Amino acid sequence: MGSLRFVVQLHRARRLHYDFRLEVGGVLVSWAVPKGPSLDPKVRRAAFQVDDHPMEYVAFEGVIPAGTYGGGDVIVWDAGRWVPYKDADPAAAVGRGELHIELHGEKLRGKFVIVRTRRDEWLLLKKRDEFAVDGWDAGACPLSVLSGRTSDEVKADPEWFWRSDLPAAEAAVPARSRTPTIEADTEGLDAIKENGTWEVFGRSLRVTNLSKVLFPGLPGEEPVTKRELLRYTAEIAPTLQPYLAGRALNLHRFPGGADTKGFWQKALPAHAPEWLPRWTEPGSGTEYLVADEPAALVWAANYGGLEWHPWTSKVDRPDLPSYALIDLDPGTGTGWEDLVLLARLHRTAFEHLGVEAFAKVSGRRGIQVWVPVERGPGFAETRAWVERLSRSVGAVVPELVSWAWEKAERGGRARLDFTQNAVNKTLVAPYSPRPAPGAPVSAPIAWDELDDSALRPDGFTIRTIGARLAARGDVFSGVLRAAQRLPKL
Ligand code: MN
Repeated sequence: MGSLRFVVQLHRARRLHYDFRLEVGGVLVSWAVPKGPSLDPKVRRAAFQVDDHPMEYVAFEGVIPAGTYGGGDVIVWDAGRWVPYKDADPAAAVGRGELHIELHGEKLRGKFVIVRTRRDEWLLLKKRDEFAVDGWDAGACPLSVLSGRTSDEVKADPEWFWRSDLPAAEAAVPARSRTPTIEADTEGLDAIKENGTWEVFGRSLRVTNLSKVLFPGLPGEEPVTKRELLRYTAEIAPTLQPYLAGRALNLHRFPGGADTKGFWQKALPAHAPEWLPRWTEPGSGTEYLVADEPAALVWAANYGGLEWHPWTSKVDRPDLPSYALIDLDPGTGTGWEDLVLLARLHRTAFEHLGVEAFAKVSGRRGIQVWVPVERGPGFAETRAWVERLSRSVGAVVPELVSWAWEKAERGGRARLDFTQNAVNKTLVAPYSPRPAPGAPVSAPIAWDELDDSALRPDGFTIRTIGARLAARGDVFSGVLRAAQRLPKL
């Protein structure tokens, strides 16, 4: 029996209560606990069984609109994994009315029992063990384990709404407008003929050679000029900002255009404007760009940085990754259909493990998966975890895969490359252009799009991704809010 997820959401609806939810059989079996769980074994808490909730609700924190089911504010008061310690079959134990559980949360740890007294009424009890604390009360630790915020703070500025009228997979909708709060003044760009100063995102930026072709056109389409790249960069920068904030940014530069040989630029050049946010790496002394404001990304694009590669760690702790990365690279001989098959096998593995992972097409030929992790484990640990996962998946289709430690790709097979999980190794950012005709972008996809035969690894470009974002929102944004502990493999 693998570990299962649990969450306790502090929910201020008509009455304040704690929703205690355990993953059982693919749903969240749920109880409302008015006084909240306690670590005190002498305390018995009344718990009222309520409707099962969909798994999608497990990380929800935000506001449920007034007048709809459960209207009020919700914070993730505690979350983690649980294991049944007496019953082989938790669903049957719930049916019988007595479930013995061991919680591995931030606040709640150790053994508990939840037992039915009559109909929907249950009691939640802490067993005496090394995690028991006499006199412990839930009200004394009111902060969200997800955001560190109080219920009042979340209510005042929620990130998410829960729309129970929508299917569960779409019910969490961003509360903050996706439109940039500071508009990029693209009319200001239009007014510049070839070289000039663009006032953009509150900065004065000298832009040059705007009619220069940077990307050849796709068949039947105009080539992409530097002007078009800069406009795209300004339009996408607010969406991209959260993925770049606090991280060193490596640039893959193609000042001569996408069909010339590019090179990596990690250190900021001496002529970089002073206002650019930056970070000096201890040890090497290298000064990196940190795109903490949208104008910084526009500067990078004007400087020939066509590809944007943020570090997987933040500059305050460069040794601690906040994502584990899985890079599905087709090698020289793997077809797209086989690569999609590999991606689907990973999807199944994540579902099975209860791990939240987010996929994107690379914009070239591959698929990449980002797994948000709570900061704690170092790169060696996330790399070993990805290696174990990929080896398990690879064992299902040994004829398709080769390994990063093999010098040559065997017969052009796909490469499962876990070695990207290392400091200053990066994958391309979501929505970053790639150096190829038409300026394709690395486009986030929903997992069910793997079943769409029209999906292509380079099917979205800087000309088409905006409409997709407007229609579907940013399907990658869970990377920013689903930090999790990787389960043992
Ligand atoms: Mn509730």
